[in-house]
Amino acid sequence: MHTQRQADGGKQPTTRRLGHYINGAPVGSDAGRCGPVFEPASGAPAAELLYAGEAEVAAAINAAAAAFPRWAAVPPVRRAQILFRYRDLLLRESDALALLITREHGKTLDDARGELRRGIEVVEFACGIPHLLKGEFSDSVSSGIDSWSLRQPLGVCVGITPFNFPAMVPLWMYPIAIACGNSFVLKPSEKDPSCPLRLAEIFGEAGLPPGVFNVINGDRQTVEALLAHPHVAAVSFVGSTPVAGHIYTEASRHGKRVQALGGAKNHLVVMPDADLEQAADALFGSAYGSAGERCMAVSVAVAVGASAEPLVDALAECARKLHVGPGNQAGSEMGPLVTAAHRARVLAYVEAGLAEGAELVVDGRGLRVTGHDAGFFLGPCLFDRVNPAMRIYREEIFGPVLVVLRVRDLDEAIGLINRHEYGNAASLFTRDGAAARSFTRAVAVGMVGINVPIPVPMAFHSFGGWKRSLFGPLHVHGQDGVRFYTRLKTVSARWPEAGAAGLNFSLPA
Ligand code: NAD
Repeated sequence: MHTQRQADGGKQPTTRRLGHYINGAPVGSDAGRCGPVFEPASGAPAAELLYAGEAEVAAAINAAAAAFPRWAAVPPVRRAQILFRYRDLLLRESDALALLITREHGKTLDDARGELRRGIEVVEFACGIPHLLKGEFSDSVSSGIDSWSLRQPLGVCVGITPFNFPAMVPLWMYPIAIACGNSFVLKPSEKDPSCPLRLAEIFGEAGLPPGVFNVINGDRQTVEALLAHPHVAAVSFVGSTPVAGHIYTEASRHGKRVQALGGAKNHLVVMPDADLEQAADALFGSAYGSAGERCMAVSVAVAVGASAEPLVDALAECARKLHVGPGNQAGSEMGPLVTAAHRARVLAYVEAGLAEGAELVVDGRGLRVTGHDAGFFLGPCLFDRVNPAMRIYREEIFGPVLVVLRVRDLDEAIGLINRHEYGNAASLFTRDGAAARSFTRAVAVGMVGINVPIPVPMAFHSFGGWKRSLFGPLHVHGQDGVRFYTRLKTVSARWPEAGAAGLNFSLPA
């Protein structure tokens, strides 16, 4: 049964109302707070979202805490069997889930299917949990003593996720946490909550016991209640850097284990020896795909030496041909921004770039999408001759705005990247292996691409940035995900023969 039809307790609402998913069932909210969810392509409200107050937060956490001991006791092979079923159901429902994403986020359907596919890969990784949880064993660490380690779940884990990947980012977290034996409470973005709610229902349909996975919707107040709750053991956050920093400090202050992934300003460096056509195509797709609302979007092109003129010309030509339209319309290559407020924020950056003296080579501000005048569309914008002091270079814009900086050589490019406050990802396009090797080693980011524009690690590697793109020591998914959602126990065991006891007050020498 679909949460969206159930959140009001069965009455037929005039506006679609979305609530929460707690203890295996859809629930409404008594907190009296709510907010609109928009359809960015038309600009119309798509639904009303109920925001959880302390009572709903407590209900979700209590359900998760009650489910935890039984779930932790389920053998990992049996947990994996449920994950296998979940993976199959997600694949079967991919088209319907992609429609939910496109409707509330705005990205193209192909892109929505792609994000789901990346998320399902994490479920596939988590299906290997019996192997991933295997510990280490040492026979005879001393006379008659064996030692081994095991990884045990933490308890109730919380995930707080951003609007730009309403399926993939939650899927980075909860499949691994749950596979490890934890229970989970997800607080997705209030901008596009329908897909996360459906993801929870499908997990129930796959056989997950009630209470192991819960979704509560809400805003900052809801998050604060989650961070302070004594039953929460760990918090995973993905979103903007100011909020990531706050979550890291607050959750740590409350004694939680935390990983908080923040914003980005990803650079792509083009060497003069690169295949410029390939580099321009790669740059273009990664800068404007999903209207630039990706944490792995390339938002800075660094043109080395003679590459600058032909690169800017090629980018401008692509930008002028880009087909912008509703994400669910055939032929659309780029959809709208997520909300009117976010569009206004991105427009303010374009104005700031002009005021600071950058050259606006392609101006997307005048774009009109026929029949969608109230949609949150903005055409691609391309700035050339940007310098490191400008706000459009220093700050994350998170929209279809690409800035080009011109530098003399690779060292200058690496220096730029390493001085930037963000350290999510960086790429190099070149035909020179030595340049690629020194770039890979010297660059201060968490994810590096060589002739690859968006170096997103697969589910069986870990994803995360450096500097102010990640607070906390561990990245998400892959082995780091398993480490984050478990704690290590090391056992030393002896089974002495009767009568073999003897007192010893010294450490063995
Ligand atoms: P956001 O920081 O505004 O919101 C993220 C989550 O935090 C949401 O669930 C939101 O409800 C909650 N939140 C917002 N303000 C809060 C506050 N003051 N206190 C507590 N909770 C709060 O981010 P967004 O606009 O939804 O997403 C875009 C941002 O996410 C970009 O900065 C992007 O780079 C980043 N992002 C990073 C990664 C990564 O892997 N590093 C991945 C995806 C997105």
